[in-house]
Amino acid sequence: MPLPLIKAVRAYVVRGGGADYHDQGEGHWIDDHIATPMSRYPEYRQSRQSFGINVLGTLVVEIEAVDGTIGFAVTTGGEPAAYIVEKHLARFLEGRDPTEVEKIWDQMYFSTQYYGRKGLVVNAISGVDLALYDLIGKLRQEPVYALLGGKVRDELTFYATGARPDLAKEMGFIGGKMPLHHGPAEGEEGLRKNLEELETMRNRVGEDFWLMFDCWMSLDLNYATKLAHKAHEYGLKWIEEALSPDDYWGYRDLKKNAPPGMLVTTGEHEATRWGFRMLLEMECCDIIQPDVGWCGGVTELIKIANLADSKGVMMIPHGSSVYSYHFVITRHNSPFAEFLMMAPKADEVVPMFHPQLIGEPVPVNGKLKLGDAPGFGVELNRDVGLHRPYPR
Ligand SMILES: [Mg+2]
Repeated sequence: MPLPLIKAVRAYVVRGGGADYHDQGEGHWIDDHIATPMSRYPEYRQSRQSFGINVLGTLVVEIEAVDGTIGFAVTTGGEPAAYIVEKHLARFLEGRDPTEVEKIWDQMYFSTQYYGRKGLVVNAISGVDLALYDLIGKLRQEPVYALLGGKVRDELTFYATGARPDLAKEMGFIGGKMPLHHGPAEGEEGLRKNLEELETMRNRVGEDFWLMFDCWMSLDLNYATKLAHKAHEYGLKWIEEALSPDDYWGYRDLKKNAPPGMLVTTGEHEATRWGFRMLLEMECCDIIQPDVGWCGGVTELIKIANLADSKGVMMIPHGSSVYSYHFVITRHNSPFAEFLMMAPKADEVVPMFHPQLIGEPVPVNGKLKLGDAPGFGVELNRDVGLHRPYPR
């Protein structure tokens, strides 16, 4: 049975948390003196919002079929991504069969290649692709994981990202990933503070619990190598996104120079099969961490995951809630998943994309079984103040 054709594509912008999870109020751990590439400027060191990390807001993409069924997705990209979706990408969907995902992706990517390739444009493409998968699932009355080949395990197992790995351990997670607070510009004193924080957490969680540092592109090779070796004493499991995503050569050397047993991870801000091919062929890391809302969507993540699998590299997607969960559960080289602790003090489990999704599942005791609701299994919360900046 052919599916109903696509009638309309709409793009909205929403402020206040959700998929743009950096868009939080004051006093949140996610904006508490976290090391970034901008930390070299003292005036931008204390708050990431000070340099504009939340300037874009959430992008919501809705795709409606002629029978009235609506698929949707949320990602980041805000107004400029909404412009690209409405003015450029919508033409490749409206009037089309929604199952033509490969052709639609190809046309979205190559029609924007002259100004796209990575970053914002690929965020927009990802949002459309995720909404398309949600629509197909809803039209077929199947969850997305079933469209992707089905579950390879019964439930998801999570580590937690946030300021309190000690509390995450009590909540049943298998590990805790902390933001690194001090970058190279804060010198030896900053390095000492970073290690003290790790030591404090190690003392609280015991020997076996995983502890990781997320460095959010803030370091240079020398600092990252030094941090890795000193952190090895406290059993750091992995060092994440230590360098600029453009510095493939640096990642290659960091992986070579890292202490035995410590994993080098990256890819959160990488995009497409071509970007991940660089990371994989140059042997830059032990785990790739694509964000399905930023790397090109499900259609592209299939290709990225297969490349990683062929190299024996794990693929543990960055955050992204249900959009990651439906993928991870279908993949042998994604044995666990990330959960972002979005409670301001990282002291309780709350839905990652709150308040934008209705029915967003959360781990209980660090585990989650996915239900069989169609699509990604969530609905759009229409009470969040949807703004459509470029109606057609
Ligand atoms: Mg990260």
